[in-house]
Amino acid sequence: MTSRQVDHEVHACPDCGAHVQWCFGQAVDPSGTLAWSRSLRCPHCGTNIEEDHEGLPPAETRRLLQRMNGVWAVQLLNAQDRREAIKHLRSFVDLDIKEAAALLRSRDDELWIGTEVEANWLRERFSSLGIIVTNAEGDVDASANSITGGIARIVHV
Ligand SMILES: [Zn+2]
Repeated sequence: MTSRQVDHEVHACPDCGAHVQWCFGQAVDPSGTLAWSRSLRCPHCGTNIEEDHEGLPPAETRRLLQRMNGVWAVQLLNAQDRREAIKHLRSFVDLDIKEAAALLRSRDDELWIGTEVEANWLRERFSSLGIIVTNAEGDVDASANSITGGIARIVHV
């Protein structure tokens, strides 16, 4: 299970404009908080940037992480669990009313599409409520003591 991911991409240095390697990371910290970071040490002008943020990364950072490590989805297993699953999902991530309504109306199994770290973070959030989300290998989380067969699964799409 991946709860930390680091990737690199060349972008312009904001100070001198030289093309240098940035480091992007995403992780779940020990308290269970989703976090992302970016950093740069420019060898041309000495600029040093270290940023750490909580929550979901901006779209461009997510695309980079997905390009390196694939696109991951949390898929609903049973249609009758949709309302409950979306209710909990809304307590974990900011879904506005429109997004939540669209998800409720949707016939798609995908509750969430993002990075592997995000999918595993959501799995841990559901697990903390005793709701099983099976991982990509089909194993159930031993720490979840739900009697159901699981509400969703993580897949590499
Ligand atoms: Zn520079």
